[in-house]
Amino acid sequence: MTAYKIHVIDVKNDLKNYIWLIEHTASHEVVIIDPTEAQLVLDYCAAHQLIPSQIWLTHWHKDHIGGIPALLATKEMPVYGPRAELSKIPMITLPLDQHSKVEFHDLDIEIIEVPGHTLGHIVYYIEDLDAAFVGDTLFAMGCGRVFEGSYEQMFHSLQRLAALPIQTKVYCTHEYTLANAKFALSVEPENVALQQRADHVEHLRYLDQITLPSSIELELATNPFLRAESVDAFRHLRKLKDTF
Ligand SMILES: [Zn+2]
Repeated sequence: MTAYKIHVIDVKNDLKNYIWLIEHTASHEVVIIDPTEAQLVLDYCAAHQLIPSQIWLTHWHKDHIGGIPALLATKEMPVYGPRAELSKIPMITLPLDQHSKVEFHDLDIEIIEVPGHTLGHIVYYIEDLDAAFVGDTLFAMGCGRVFEGSYEQMFHSLQRLAALPIQTKVYCTHEYTLANAKFALSVEPENVALQQRADHVEHLRYLDQITLPSSIELELATNPFLRAESVDAFRHLRKLKDTF
């Protein structure tokens, strides 16, 4: 396998979005994942001599797709996204479901369907990079709100991610880690791994540094939503968090 590098753009918007880029270093071509907006991406690519080459979308929410028209206006490129959300994201040129195979140079990308936050939400899992781009399904010590699917669907989606190899790095779309740590500590105050992680995260945020990516191993130890043992337990936690 040739070399790849993962970049992050901090959008610094109210929702604290991150835009992740995967660079094929030999060609400088990049995949742009969930472009909140375009100008930051274009400026970043110009500054680092990167060539926008594909767009990947996890779900239809505006803060994940807002930059597509302006990116496409600068250059034609394929737009991958969930087949189930095609009506909401008409810019998709290559609709995906769990049977789809995506390729970027010599990377094989697996599509995992994770309904719950939205009904069509997908995750891009790349075994060769030990990386999962999880959108708004899994967050560091947290998970996305259940907007469209059922609690049962979201529980199973999270369990599917929990079953990935533990060394898998988790690339979430928002910097919600510190607030999630506070909630997690409120429900698992005795969890030592969680206490240590919360201290570390607080320090990182004090320095204005990113807290991501996480890993499946770290989430299994510290994320109450992944640790929930039943749909009922998950629903209870998610409802508590909604009003925390
Ligand atoms: Zn969302």
